[in-house]
Amino acid sequence: MRLPDAIVDCGKCCACCKSHEVIALMGADNPDLYEHKVKLPRSISDQLDVMQPDHQGFMLARGKDGACAYLKGGRCSIWPQRPYVCRTFSCIGFVRKMKAEANRVEIRRAMRDGVIDKDVWRAGVERGG
Ligand code: SF4
Ligand code: SF4
Repeated sequence: MRLPDAIVDCGKCCACCKSHEVIALMGADNPDLYEHKVKLPRSISDQLDVMQPDHQGFMLARGKDGACAYLKGGRCSIWPQRPYVCRTFSCIGFVRKMKAEANRVEIRRAMRDGVIDKDVWRAGVERGG
């Protein structure tokens, strides 16, 4: 199955691969392709059961630095096989959505609390979000 790709000119940016966001494996993904995966913590799988019920109960593993286990030398080592979440995430769309739904104070608070990754936000703003 051909998976969709977000239209984002990432260049050398890999901010979202370094952020601590959960990369859950979704219904479009084949979990067998991903050696570096772990079971979703219960608290997250409970949330996804409601919001994205086609998740498969796994997320990509992260290294000690918090970056995705497949990020090697600043590049995705499995780019042609990266999972659905990676293919469809757009930092531009994320910034636009947040700006539409939250005010500046709320956004600043979310950054301070680590809910929004500052580097992902910056990447989205720089690209027009
Ligand atoms: S933060 Fe945006 S520009 Fe950077 S890698 Fe992710 S999608 Fe690409
Ligand atoms: S699989 Fe590749 S694109 Fe997805 S988070 Fe990991 S390094 Fe980034």
